[in-house]
Amino acid sequence: MDNGRTPVVALVGNPNVGKSTLFNAVTGLRQHTGNWPGKTVSAAWGRFRRAGREFALVDLPGTYALDPRSPEEAVTRDFLALGGADAVVVVCDAACLERGLALVYQVRELTGRVVVCVNLLDEARRRGVTVDLEELSRALGLPAVGTSAGRRQGVEELLDLTAEAALREEAPPPLPPAEPAEHLAAGERAAARAVRRRGDGRALDRRLDRLLTGKYTALPLLALLLLGVLWLTIVGANLPSQLLTGLFARGEEGLNALWAALGAPEWLRGPLVDGAYRVLGWVVSVMLPPMAIFFPLFTLLEDLGYLPRVAFVMDRAFQRCRACGKQALTMCMGLGCNAVGVTGCRIIDSPRERLLAILTNSLMPCNGRFPPPGKGKPRRREGAAIPSGG
Ligand code: GDP
Repeated sequence: MDNGRTPVVALVGNPNVGKSTLFNAVTGLRQHTGNWPGKTVSAAWGRFRRAGREFALVDLPGTYALDPRSPEEAVTRDFLALGGADAVVVVCDAACLERGLALVYQVRELTGRVVVCVNLLDEARRRGVTVDLEELSRALGLPAVGTSAGRRQGVEELLDLTAEAALREEAPPPLPPAEPAEHLAAGERAAARAVRRRGDGRALDRRLDRLLTGKYTALPLLALLLLGVLWLTIVGANLPSQLLTGLFARGEEGLNALWAALGAPEWLRGPLVDGAYRVLGWVVSVMLPPMAIFFPLFTLLEDLGYLPRVAFVMDRAFQRCRACGKQALTMCMGLGCNAVGVTGCRIIDSPRERLLAILTNSLMPCNGRFPPPGKGKPRRREGAAIPSGG
């Protein structure tokens, strides 16, 4: 193609394969694209230069397939099917290439201008997985590049091949439509040719999985971990809470002294200092420290991959109430802040289960609602209530 307009390159891939990281490495932007049911699915746009030309780069929502029945997948499918992209980079996770390659075959039904990006190569190597990229390229009949987007490795070569795919005159014709199972099988065949595994790189993962999701071990471990998080939150929050309370108290004394020095009216001091300022002080000193401990701990559990296992373990119990196991996570988040828990319900796919989760989530006692009076908590005045949280 060379009609003078800016060629468009689309990034497609399963969730969590490093698409946004690659997008940021290429465009120099700091983009985070959210991807959950019910959200108007948006795509991030950026630009890069290659071969003396400017290219537009679009980061499409993460997807496992291009099924038009799913709103998120339909967005990606429509974008590609309507000719929105001059070249498509399908980003795959080197450690589980089969799943990514199944998507490559689906994209190939829509266009021949495809480049396969095998990302997370460093992580795969750590697990004893190596990918023969030349063999992969031969098996797929497509250019394949290995990258570690997090370290910006392989990105230049990827851009060279992508620019070439977007600009070349002739492109291979799209593949005839096939069933998803056929795509998966074709992806497994190509992966089998290109992937070498040294030993069982996932042995530790599997052992941990057996413990964390085992019939007799899952629930006690879940209870222990959750109690540990709550204990750390409540005990750990005491010190910063005390410090903040002292700080706000000193501020209040200062404000009162200033008020007296200015000779300002008492009827105004009550609402402003005893009212607005003191409530602000309570809210900040009671709620901020536990949140600043609870949510990072939760993020850590998410990064370690434990949270999806919690949803899996709790799913059967929640299904008995006609709800979804993922609600266990939003309810846990609700212990930190109900507003966050309710917002988190967007991860639940079914609209009915999502509504159920939203309605029942507000029954969780969030940290602003249960601060026990005592050490480290703001002094309660007669007749004054501790403000409720989120
Ligand atoms: P997306 O959902 O496909 O957009 O994935 P992200 O770009 O959000 O990446 C998912 C996770 O993988 C993040 O924690 C990234 O920091 C990490 N990541 C991305 N690329 C690499 C890489 O090349 N190597 C390693 N080790 N981690 C990466």
